[in-house]
Formats: sequence, C-alpha cells, structure tokens
Amino acid sequence: MKAIVYGGPGRKSWTDVPDPTIQNPGDAIVKVDTTTICGTDLHILKGDVPAVREGRVLGHEGVGTVTEVGQSVTSLRPGDRVIISCIKSCGHCANCKSGLYSHCLGDEGASGIGWVFGHLIDGTQAEYVRVPYAENSLHLLPAGVTDEQAVMLSDILPTGFEIGVQYGRVKPGDTVAVIGAGPVGLAAIATAGLYGAAAIIAVDLDANRLEKSREFGATHVIASGDADWKEQLLALTDGQGVDVAIEAVGIPDTFSMCTEIVRPGGNVANVGVHGKPVQLHLEDLWIRNINISMGLVNANTTAMLLKLVAQKKLPAEKFATHRFRFDEFMDAYDTFARAAETNALKVVITA
Ligand SMILES: [Zn+2]
Ligand SMILES: [Zn+2]
Repeated sequence: MKAIVYGGPGRKSWTDVPDPTIQNPGDAIVKVDTTTICGTDLHILKGDVPAVREGRVLGHEGVGTVTEVGQSVTSLRPGDRVIISCIKSCGHCANCKSGLYSHCLGDEGASGIGWVFGHLIDGTQAEYVRVPYAENSLHLLPAGVTDEQAVMLSDILPTGFEIGVQYGRVKPGDTVAVIGAGPVGLAAIATAGLYGAAAIIAVDLDANRLEKSREFGATHVIASGDADWKEQLLALTDGQGVDVAIEAVGIPDTFSMCTEIVRPGGNVANVGVHGKPVQLHLEDLWIRNINISMGLVNANTTAMLLKLVAQKKLPAEKFATHRFRFDEFMDAYDTFARAAETNALKVVITA
C-alpha cells in the first residue's frame, strides 16, 4: 500500500510500505477512505516529537471501512464504516475504566499514553491502518453522516470540547474567550454553546479565521493585532474579565493573554500543544483564584458528539476547506502548512 512515511525532521514521502496485518486478537484492519492533517503532524515533521521514529506512517485522524477483524472482535465486521479515534483505549485498564483514555495502560504502542497512531505505531495517512483495541477505538458511523463530517470527530471536535469547554468548566450564562481560531479553537467555539455559554469571543490575528469563527458560533470577534485588543475584550465583560479563557495556539504569548483576560475565580483552559516553557505568574494569579487546566484529549465524548453531528447540531462539515485525493497527499501537506496564505482549516484527503 501507499502511505505518508516520516523520514526524519523535514522529510516525508507518499511511498510504498507493507500492508498492515492483524497482530493481536483485538485488532481490526481499516481501509482508510478519508483522512486529514493535524498541526501535530507539522510539529512531528519539525522534529519536535522525537518519539516518532523514521519510517513511521503519520496521521491520527481518519474514517474508513473495516476489512478484517481479529478473533476476539465481535461488534465489528468487514464492511462497517468507522471513525478512527486519535486515542486508542483498551477499555479495561484502570485509566480506561475512569474515562482517562488519554493514558490507557494497554501495551499497544506504549503503556500509559493513548495517542499512538502516527506517533508510536503506524497511523492513518495510508491506504490501510491496523487499529488496536478496535472495539473501543473505533466508532460505527450511522448512515447520513458523511466522511468529511466524521473525520472531524477523530480529534478536533473532542479535543476542543473536552480540553477547552469541559476542562474550562463552561456553564450557562458564561462569557468564553477562545484565543486562536484554528481548527481546534473553532471546535471549542462550536461546542461552548452545549453548556450554555452566553457570549463566545474569538480572538485571532487572522481576519479570515475571525470571520469564519462566526459560522461556528462566535458572538464577538477581536483582532489580536489591534493595540487595544485587551480593552476591547474587557469592555465586553464590563471590565470584569471572561469566565473562561481557552488557549488554542500553544505559544507563551497566547497563554499569558488568557491569564490577563480571565476574571477572578475564572478558568484558563489550555488546549494548545506547547513546545517551550511558559512563565506562570503565580505571584499575580494566586490572589485572583484562577483555575488552570490542560490535557491530552480522552476522546470519551466522541460518541456523544457524533450524535450531535448526526442531528445537525454541530457544523462539522464547515471545517473542511480544501480537498485532495491520496495521490495529491504532498500537495495537501503544502496547502495545510501554508494556512496563513491558503486560508486552510482542515484539508480533507480521500482515497
Ligand atoms: Zn491532532
Ligand atoms: Zn486502557
């Protein structure tokens, strides 16, 4: 089969690799029909994630069709359309039992980390992928949900909702600011309303992304390039600050911005993947009773979010901005990597 293979920092190719085979009784082989590229894949290509070795097939998002299942798999059969969750979960370890799938202790890939695809085992940017713990790591797709909608449930919608909205403890009537209106920030914007946010403020440097954020439910937008961005934002909260500030970029500046705009007693939910240390001003924050949260997605809300997408309560289809075929995979990477110029949100690649 063909796959995107990591060749060390700065190097990838769409090339021939052996077809995956069943290795454990709980595995399934899935023919990938639709996949996409994540900002994390770009981090890997920069060499920021040294656990990814040369020769690894990249990708942790995908929708496909089951072609083969291991002996112990009873709830899936060849021909089933499935969403591949970016997090594997064995379903029976202590962490899985408490819903902390992000830290599944199952041996596959590595014990203690749920994100294995395109990281510690071969991923989804390929014609076929082996899925461990298939019964827990795959979600059957109902008729009526398109591949393009469903692929947003592999990672971005659960990540924005769980790590942004749930960890940020959004509640009815809240004013929520989301710093960074890329795909995951937009996913937080799209799902903040599920817990009754009254106002959702999108903050970004990019005018196009701000405009787009209104389609996902932002009630106000603020250009963070404006010298008075903070005054504009605080004016929307009578000077008090927002109840919840969600960081969806992953750089020190945007994290600091969140701590500056949150009201006393409010929540800062960090979703961004950071590559550098961030200064935490405890000397200022302690007396303001600020809660700070962060994490790797558990993907334990995927089934719930899938129901909302199926009922057209979440605009999953709006994330896709560019479409490619598998033999154009390198072009898809190029378009996604130049998002500031191409206005790409999610690039969708289909077989
Ligand atoms: Zn991702
Ligand atoms: Zn587990």
